[in-house]
Amino acid sequence: MDKKAMREETERLIREAMERKSVTIKTGDTRIEARCGKCGAPNKISAPKGSSRVKFDCKECGQSQVTL
Ligand SMILES: [Zn+2]
Repeated sequence: MDKKAMREETERLIREAMERKSVTIKTGDTRIEARCGKCGAPNKISAPKGSSRVKFDCKECGQSQVTL
């Protein structure tokens, strides 16, 4: 596979992932599992539909951060 084909394949996968995401968002709040950047503890967050970046405070260390 040459570089151009690889880039096209990547773009196709991103497009498909975004389409799947938009379907999930329509069903209501999305649940995100985010790992704390400070202590590494997993945090389950309920995000309002339409938002991809969600602010949360780590339940272990209290560090305020934004999901990736
Ligand atoms: Zn933490």
